[in-house]
Amino acid sequence: MNWKKLAAAAMAVFLCAGCSGTPEQVQEHPQGGEEEKHEATTFAMDTIMMFTVYSKDGEEILIDAEQEIRRLEHLLSVTMEDSEIHELNHKAGEKEVHISEETMELLSLGKSIGKETNGCFNIAISPVVKAWGFTEEEKHVPEQEEIDRLLPLADTDDILLDKENGTAFLQKEGMAIDLGGIAKGYTADKVAELLRAEGITSGYFSLGGNLMGIGQKPDGSAWKAAVGNPLDAKDYVGMLEFSDCAVVTSGGYQRYFEEDGKRYHHIIDPATGYPAENELLAVAVVCENATRADALSTALFVMGLDDAAAFWQKHNDFEVIFITNDEVIATEGLRDSFTFEGRNNDFTFRIMERK
Ligand code: ADP
Ligand code: MG
Repeated sequence: MNWKKLAAAAMAVFLCAGCSGTPEQVQEHPQGGEEEKHEATTFAMDTIMMFTVYSKDGEEILIDAEQEIRRLEHLLSVTMEDSEIHELNHKAGEKEVHISEETMELLSLGKSIGKETNGCFNIAISPVVKAWGFTEEEKHVPEQEEIDRLLPLADTDDILLDKENGTAFLQKEGMAIDLGGIAKGYTADKVAELLRAEGITSGYFSLGGNLMGIGQKPDGSAWKAAVGNPLDAKDYVGMLEFSDCAVVTSGGYQRYFEEDGKRYHHIIDPATGYPAENELLAVAVVCENATRADALSTALFVMGLDDAAAFWQKHNDFEVIFITNDEVIATEGLRDSFTFEGRNNDFTFRIMERK
């Protein structure tokens, strides 16, 4: 896939309108550095990715960034037949496989975030996700009997990692890994690392709505993202300022299907094998580390508001915007960076304080 250059004159870049349905937009008011501004967009990991960097070498640097994404996709994709994860899944119950240090790192991180979130984040949930048809054209509600049979295969303790020998083994036949809830975040961290190493001090990118801001705008102000309204794709519930961090959203309103008048979305509660069902419509996590932001946004969405709030209370390394049917709630650390916007909707707003 080739890079397509975007119109550099655009005053506002609406990230991801209509891609995987992700809600953020980045609004930009370029002041200075215009001649060094480079933009690119590509399709990878099943989603649209958009980049803006300020540097005279921006064009070449963005080509390097795309190569980095292709490289990671070849390690982490579930669907690419020659990916490491594909091989690992293929050999489940049979044989260990050699994996790269990066795949090892991500599997190990995935397992530990799973433990930390009491199983709400689960990289072994793939057999259940597949039973719902989320990886196929035909989505449908599976029989309870099928869910009961598949859930025991989603135990991350059965993912055996041998760091010394560089191998991984899925102990049970029928097991499979799905890094869909964390791979884009990991890729964002790797791309940010590459951009910084190549001298980028100002830029931002969106990997299917997973946002990452490097430094600040050339005028010294923070990057801005509009946090979408889960009930109305044309509306947003507030503006978030961010720099040198990731903003990752998970919600049930983006990828879903309907059966017998009921909606079923793609984030599975590993405790039930059903799409997570609680008061949360969307969760946005703000964190320096994009891998963590990605995994946590999925996990907090599964937890529901009370458990997610309790989890946040115990940690200091991330902040959250929760959206329910009638409320937008920002955690205390976002007091100065998030501005609620309720003109076109019926949400009320509050700050969640640290206890
Ligand atoms: P998206 O990638 O659509 O922006 P998420 O980051 O929340 O959203 O990841 C959802 C994807 O992660 C699903 O499509 C599925 O592949 C996988 N998944 C579903 N449920 C879970 C879960 N409980 N834990 C980890 N991964 C999950
Ligand atoms: Mg996620």
